[in-house]
Amino acid sequence: MINILFAATEERWADYEAPLKRALADAGLAANLRQDFPPEDVDYIVYAPNSAVQDFTPYTRCKAVLNIWAGVESIVGNTTLNIPLARMVDPGMTQGMIEWVLGHVMRYHLGMDRNILVQDGTWEPHVPPLAAERRVTVLGMGALGSACARAIAQVGFDVTGWSRSPKTVEGVSCLHGDDGLAEALERAYILVLLLPKTAATENLLNTERLAQMPKGAMIINPGRGPLIDDDALLAALNSDHIAHATLDVFRIEPLPADHPYWAHPNVTVTPHIASETRVSTASQVIVENVRRGETGEPLLHLVDRSSGY
Ligand code: NAP
Repeated sequence: MINILFAATEERWADYEAPLKRALADAGLAANLRQDFPPEDVDYIVYAPNSAVQDFTPYTRCKAVLNIWAGVESIVGNTTLNIPLARMVDPGMTQGMIEWVLGHVMRYHLGMDRNILVQDGTWEPHVPPLAAERRVTVLGMGALGSACARAIAQVGFDVTGWSRSPKTVEGVSCLHGDDGLAEALERAYILVLLLPKTAATENLLNTERLAQMPKGAMIINPGRGPLIDDDALLAALNSDHIAHATLDVFRIEPLPADHPYWAHPNVTVTPHIASETRVSTASQVIVENVRRGETGEPLLHLVDRSSGY
């Protein structure tokens, strides 16, 4: 019998218990899935970084920690964790992110706010350009960024993607590394941030980089709050260099009620809802990794501790 510890909140247990047990049975894996075990009996930990388990030292026979979150910034530096850590790459979460990002790209592209927010009797036709005439840049071409870039390109937009290492994504002009960033930003009439939070990406969008974007550009951030230097963004919004920002993630969440983003006329705040792990597809991903662990195959979606994601 395989012993799988579920280490996340009670709410998550209520969501995951049945789908995980079903996925284990479907995979033909005989396993005990519980919220508590003597630590030395645990083979795998299904994990959320906000769980009570923070010291992994007692889990002496554990083979892997399987995260149910995509972001790993709050666990990757845990020095007691010396076994493989997999992050969550879930088809359901990816689809949700595609839909959210595409919706906000289309909102900016079509200038929807102009008509939705202002119904004052003035008849001012603004016919939007075609998508092919609009440049969109996606920073971060991982599981989520590449799927979003591909979907945006399929609508017809002129899409540039940027990542650490070289990439090939159909329909997307891919740039990488420090040299590629300036060009990616120069092309960003709409900029989508889907980078992880690491030491290298913190404050990536600072005063200098915002200045490299075209005047009137718009920013969509479903990645992580610290990717943006907030003071620099507010200054760029106030000078009209950046026309609008849609921000889903923040340094402090919930975003404090007195934060200037709430009151800014050119900022849309959404409460970290861009996408989330969907239990049924995520359970299958977790169980596939348990199966791999048991057969000695390489685990999927392993985190590279040195790069922090
Ligand atoms: P991922 O597969 O790990 O992809 C990360 C991408 O960022 C990769 O393309 C990587 O480049 C690139 N990158 C990392 N550091 C870089 C650097 N220093 N310079 C240039 N590129 C760099 O991650 P993912 O699954 O797509 O998720 C991305 C992020 O989305 C997560 O970390 C999380 O913060 C966020 N997220 C938010 C929500 C929400 O609801 N708002 C939901 C889920 C996830 P390489 O390809 O070269 O490695």
